[in-house]
Formats: sequence, structure tokens, C-alpha cells
Amino acid sequence: MNTLTVAHHRRLEDYMAKAFERAKHFIGYPIATDFDYSELYPLLSLPLNNVGDPFVESTYDLNSRSIEVEVLQFFASIFRAPENNWWGYVTNGGSEGNLYSLYIARELYPEGIVYYSEATHYSVQKNIQLLGLRSIVIRTNDQGEMDYDDLEQMIQLHREKPVIVLANIGTTMTEAKDDLGAIRKVFKRSAIRNHYIHCDAALAGVYSALLELEPGFDFSFGADSIAISGHKFIGSPIPCGVVLVKKNYKDRIGKAVSYIGTLDTTISGSRNGHSPLFLWYAIKRLGVEGLRQRAVDCLAMAAYVVERFQSIGIPAWRNPSAITVVFPAPGPLIRQKWQLATEGGWSHIICMPGCSKTSIDEFMESLQREGALPNFFLKE
Ligand SMILES: *Cc1c(COP(=O)(O)O)cnc(C)c1O
Repeated sequence: MNTLTVAHHRRLEDYMAKAFERAKHFIGYPIATDFDYSELYPLLSLPLNNVGDPFVESTYDLNSRSIEVEVLQFFASIFRAPENNWWGYVTNGGSEGNLYSLYIARELYPEGIVYYSEATHYSVQKNIQLLGLRSIVIRTNDQGEMDYDDLEQMIQLHREKPVIVLANIGTTMTEAKDDLGAIRKVFKRSAIRNHYIHCDAALAGVYSALLELEPGFDFSFGADSIAISGHKFIGSPIPCGVVLVKKNYKDRIGKAVSYIGTLDTTISGSRNGHSPLFLWYAIKRLGVEGLRQRAVDCLAMAAYVVERFQSIGIPAWRNPSAITVVFPAPGPLIRQKWQLATEGGWSHIICMPGCSKTSIDEFMESLQREGALPNFFLKE
């Protein structure tokens, strides 16, 4: 292959310098940054592709299916999937897992209505639109958790239709968790026979399961499907995720395709063969205990961040056992520098693995320096 021209080489160097600088001021999105996958780099020279169903071998044999299946087994285990009745695949992220799960729910209940809270991730509304499903938005409390009385009233109004609830296991802005127990009580009181619960556990699913945080949300608590993001708590240079569903539901979709010699049971055709390797490597290297310890460290960091904010008089808060710290949104320069997502006058810091005390202290210093300006915070 030809080499880059001098000008293009410089362009690349400039871009790299910028990316590494941006990585140093990255506390606003829920992405682990503490990974080292260099042992896997030789595999980046191969066009790995897990096209189609991970459990059915393909003629495209240059794949990482066997590794992918081990990753899925790990998540099936921590999410207590029903033995011999689960299926899943490594997705391009949490959004695809949500889309896939709602697709399954629609195939089961074409007449179903999707109920999801107003704090739900923006991608869900789009997924519902793509699938042509009916939906109703449910109110939340101030912390971002679904209002179950509102859910009950809405369900009562449409009692003749199957109920599909999208429950958040960690909302995007405040990491609030919807309670499957409370949702199932609503089903029971309203005598709903046809129901489906999908857990959008993109943000908090992995550490919540590992630490057995309350409220429980796995299959044993009534989930019919669960989606997580792989590049958030576990960490991956390429966005990815995992979706798990009950196998008897999935058997309704997917057809054999001669060209790939496997089943077309996933949303996209070609699938990234490298991301399962990153997930596998992290799981095997850290193990359940290592992953748990990382989660405990994140929670301790979140407590530290709240304390730092409060010590300078800023009313920061977090939900129980959350690594997301919410605070009044600061001025635009700080938000831009630290890549702080902002909604409704609030910003957040998410203490994912790799969010260091050094970055937090540096952030607090810049906040104190500039926070003295009038109207600095959007919410006073
Ligand atoms: C991140 C996130 C998603 C989307 O996941 P992607 O991996 O970015 O596709 C969905 N829901 C919640 C609550 C999230 O935090």
C-alpha cells in the first residue's frame, strides 16, 4: 500500500492529538476509558464478520462466533436467563438491542401498546416509529423513575390491548431505575394477561446485576428481554452491546439464508466480529470479582463527586446506588470543555471506570474559578 503524503500525515497527527486531548476531559458520558486491548491488536488485521445468527455456523468462517457465544453465556448467567430458553447476540449498541427487543415484542403482540417513561432514551421513540407500534408516554417523578399510578391509569384505559413496557435500568440523564415488581403489580391489578417487559439496561445493567442492586430487573424478576451497551461499563474502543431474549419468542423470526449459510435473525446483516473479542477479553481478564470491584470503585467515586460539589455549595445529587451525579448545568465553556450532556437545566458526570480523581479535581477547580461569574449556572 502507498504511504500517506506529508500533508495527510500531518492531518492525521493533528486529529490524533485532538482525540487524546478530548479523552482527558471526558467525564460527561457513560463510557469506560480504562481498557487496554493491545493483546488483541493483531486481530485488527483480519476482516472478522459474525454475519447472521451467532449460534449457527456460517459459510463465512472468518468470524468470532465461538467467542461471541461465550460472551452471551456470561451475560445470560449474570442476568439469570431461563436455562435452555435464551438467545441473543452482540449488537452495535444498546439502541440496536432495544430495537431488536421491541421487534420481538411486536411479533408476539402486533396489537400491543408500548408504555415508556418520559425519561427514556431518545432512540426508543424512533424505534417505536420504525416498527409502527402504538405507544404511550408515562410520567416520571423528579428523580426520573416511572410513575406507576400514571402507568396503571393508562393501561386501564386500553385494557383490551397487550401491554409492552419498556423499563429503564438507569435512565440516560439521572440513572433512575424502573421497578419491575411495581410494574408487574400493575399488570396483576389490571388483570392484563398479555404483557411483555423489555429492560433498557444499556447504562446500568451490567454493574447492577453484578452487585445485585435493587430493584432487581433480570429474567428472574420478569424481564422478557434485556439490552445493554458493551462500550459503557465494560469498555470497548468500538461501540457495541448485547441483547438477550427468551428463545421461544425469537424462534418466530429469522429465516435460513443460503448465501450466508446461516440464519438471518439479527437486525443488521454483517456484524462486527471484533467487538465480541473486546467484551470477551474484559470479562475473562477481570472476572466477576474484578468487574464487581470496578463497580464498587465507581460508586465510591460518585460519592466523592457529590461531596466535592456540596462542599462548594452546589446542590448535586444522585439516585440510590447510581454512578451518575446530577447538578445544575454550568456555563457553555465548561460544558464544552468537559463534554457535559445537558437537559432541562441539568448536567451530569458519570463515574465510569477510568473517571479519575485527578480529572474530577481539575474539573472542580475550573468550576470554582468560573462558577463565581453571575448567571453561570443555568438553574439558580
Ligand atoms: C446509552 C443508552 C442507550 C443507547 O445505547 P447505545 O449503546 O448508545 O446505542 C439507550 N438507553 C440508555 C438508558 C442509555 O444510557
